[in-house]
Amino acid sequence: MPLPATRRKALVKIYIRDGVIVEKGQEDRLVDTGGLVALPGLVDLHTHLREPGREDAETVLSGSRAAALGGFTAVCAMANTSPVADTAGVVEQVYRLGQEAGLVDVQPIGAVTVGLAGERLAELGAMADSRARVRVFSDDGHCVHDPRLMRRALEYVKAFDGVIAQHAEEPRLTEGAQMHEGTESARLGLTGWPAVAEESIIARDVLLAAHVGARLHICHVSTAGSVEIIRQAKARGIRVTAEVTPHHLLLTHELAGSYDPVYKVNPPLRTERDVNALREGLRDGTIDIIATDHAPHAAEDKECEWAYARPGMLGLETALSIAIHVLGQDWELIADRMSAAPARIAQLANHGQPLRPGSPANFTLVDPAARWTVEPHGLASLSHNTPYAGMVLPGRVVHTYLRGEQTVADGKVTK
Ligand SMILES: [Zn+2]
Repeated sequence: MPLPATRRKALVKIYIRDGVIVEKGQEDRLVDTGGLVALPGLVDLHTHLREPGREDAETVLSGSRAAALGGFTAVCAMANTSPVADTAGVVEQVYRLGQEAGLVDVQPIGAVTVGLAGERLAELGAMADSRARVRVFSDDGHCVHDPRLMRRALEYVKAFDGVIAQHAEEPRLTEGAQMHEGTESARLGLTGWPAVAEESIIARDVLLAAHVGARLHICHVSTAGSVEIIRQAKARGIRVTAEVTPHHLLLTHELAGSYDPVYKVNPPLRTERDVNALREGLRDGTIDIIATDHAPHAAEDKECEWAYARPGMLGLETALSIAIHVLGQDWELIADRMSAAPARIAQLANHGQPLRPGSPANFTLVDPAARWTVEPHGLASLSHNTPYAGMVLPGRVVHTYLRGEQTVADGKVTK
C-alpha cells in the first residue's frame, strides 16, 4: 500500500503485533481500513514547533497534535527556537518533549551555526552523537551565507551521511524585502524579494555539494529558476534534494494585494508560472518532497501591519488536503513525496516504509471523498495563521497510528 486505485474501496485489514505490521494470523490486533485509503504515516522535514521559547505560539505537544491530525507520524523540528537548538542539550530537550507528547516522532534538526549567527559552526558532532541522533542541520530562517562556512558544514556532515538543509536567500538581495519582486510589488510599492536571491545561493551550494561530495537539501524551493538549477544538478549526479511547501504549490503573489499578513511568508508567494514549474518539478522528481514549513505565530506577531508581521503560515493540518487538491488522488505519488522520500532524506529508518509485513505500523487512514472547511480556530495549533481559512478542501484524515497505537481516532486526537 498505498492501495491501487481499483482496490481503494475494498475492505482491507492491517495486522499488527508489537507495533509492527505482520502477516495474517500473527497479529495481536488488527485494523480494518473500512474502505479508507491507507497511506504510510506522513513525514514532515520542515516543522517549526516554537518550543523552547515561544510556547504561546506552539508547543511540542500542540504541534504534535496538529501533526497527527494531519496524518503525520514524524516531524523534523527546526532549530530556530529560543534558545537555538545548537547544542546536544537543546536537541535532547526537544527530542524528550516529543517522546513525552507521544503522538508523532519529533526528530530535532540542529543548527548549522552557533545561534544561527552564521559565524562559526555549532556542535554538529555532539548533536549527531546525542540521544536525538541529529542527521539534518539547518539555520532555517537564515541562509548559511558564508561559502567557507557552508563548505565546512558539508564536509563535517559527510562523515555520518548527514545533510545540510539550506534556506536559500542571498541576504544582500533581500534587505527590507516584503514580497516577491515583480509586477505586484511594483504596483503595491513594497520592497521586492527577487527570485535570483534564492537561485544564486542554490547554484552556489550545488557546486559546493559537488565539490565536497556531501548531501545538500534545499528548503522551500519557490521559483521556476530554482527548479531548473536543481534539475541540472541532479542530471550531473550531484547529491541534492529539495522540498516545496503546500502554499508555494497553490498560492500566488497577487494575494499580497489584500495586505492581509496571513499571506506574508518567506520565501514569498511567487507567480503562477513559478507555481506551475514547482508542480511539474514535484511530479517529475526534481523536487523530492512536500514539506510544510509549518510556522505558527502568535496573534501579536501576525495580526498587525504587513510590514511588521512575521513571515510564515500554518501547514501541518492542511498539507495532505492541499496535496490532494494539487496532485489529485495519486496515492503513490503522495506516499512517496510526503512519506518515503522525506524519511529517506532525514534518515528516519522507522518511517516512510511501505505498509507490508515487517514495517513499523505507522500509517494514516484517509477518507478521499470527504470535504472540509478550514476553520482557523478549529485547528489544534495554538496559532491561527492559516492562509486557507474558509476554503473547502478535499480529503480528511480519519485515523492515524504510530507504532500500532492510535494517535487520531475518528478525526480526533487521542491525547
Ligand atoms: Zn526557511
